Amino acid sequence: MSSPPAGRPTFCEIDSGALLWNFSKAREKAGRARVLAVVKADAYGHGACAVARELEKAGCDAFGTATLEEAIALRRAGVGGAIFVLAGAYPEQIVEMLEHRLTPVVHDLETLERLEKLARERDRQLAFHLKIDTGMGRLGFLPRLIETWLPRVAGLERLRLEGVLSHFSHADDVVQDYTRGQLELFREVLRRLERAGVRPRWVHLANSAAVITLPEAHFTMVRPGLMLYGIHPAPEMRPRVELRPVLSWKTRILQLKEVPPETSISYGRTFVTRRRSRIATLPVGYADGYSRLLSNRGQVLVRGRRAPVVGAVCMDLTMVDVTDIPDAGTGDEVVLIGRQGEETISAEEVASWAHTIPYEVLTSISARVPRVFRVP
Ligand SMILES: *Cc1c(COP(=O)(O)O)cnc(C)c1O
Repeated sequence: MSSPPAGRPTFCEIDSGALLWNFSKAREKAGRARVLAVVKADAYGHGACAVARELEKAGCDAFGTATLEEAIALRRAGVGGAIFVLAGAYPEQIVEMLEHRLTPVVHDLETLERLEKLARERDRQLAFHLKIDTGMGRLGFLPRLIETWLPRVAGLERLRLEGVLSHFSHADDVVQDYTRGQLELFREVLRRLERAGVRPRWVHLANSAAVITLPEAHFTMVRPGLMLYGIHPAPEMRPRVELRPVLSWKTRILQLKEVPPETSISYGRTFVTRRRSRIATLPVGYADGYSRLLSNRGQVLVRGRRAPVVGAVCMDLTMVDVTDIPDAGTGDEVVLIGRQGEETISAEEVASWAHTIPYEVLTSISARVPRVFRVP
């Protein structure tokens, strides 16, 4: 177990027991399909190297990053499994892809042909996965243009098609019509590939929402991200799988002062006390990823009770009102996300206050906040 840093007491605690629990739940749901753990964006803010190493020890052998740089960081940390670069293939990076055994996800013909040419020049083989746009409207080959790209995919020599994938746009929606439409289109593309003699070993489509709710979309591999970190893609999915939040975000009261009514707090005077108040200043701010949208909206836990954020969240400091928590004092632990006593503040709840989604809350926690990995 690593310990919290000395000095500024703002840090995130990463619970590896919860991570492994969630991974085992993803595996259970996936059945026979291989689990590719999505660890992009520093494992959704949890610390990708520690997370991937821990999952690898538990038997995970495939990881997904957004960028090549993220993938190389995993290799340098000793991750030996397959690593897929999900969010864009750049032919300029072919040397690194080969050197670090990374698998690009290729989404258009031009990139495919440039990679083929570069691999030939180097007399090397490069495995890749082919991305189909079945309705996300983002990256991928379009099914309706399949006549134009399929013959060229089938004719590759230096690039080895190891997998085919697509991505859902709205799999967290309880009405699954659009999702099922995407699934049908994906199946149609697979049939066309088959007829052209293209039979990729890995076929994958399911993000966390589909891992939990749509077994028909599991194929031979699934790509959960969010659920590994203990968060349900939608509240309706809670009864379907028990997940345990992995990240807690903590700090301590830096200063506590008693102020009279009519005292204004923070920049812009958006909060003015109405009563004699006890205002605690916390050493955390929007530069740490505690959103400025939480100004006068967020809550934190002190002594197991909720205290409201008052005034504007500053770059490095935030004020909370602890008037109703009379035993609160300087140095007390404050929980921004996580559990304290009987109370919990979830990333989903913080997201709702900040008008966003838990993905953004977690990935916004900045590099300035140390991650402390707790092994049970
Ligand atoms: C981020 C991502 C995932 C994981 O999505 P979750 O909703 O976090 O499970 C899967 N596939 C691709 C291509 C992604 O970019």
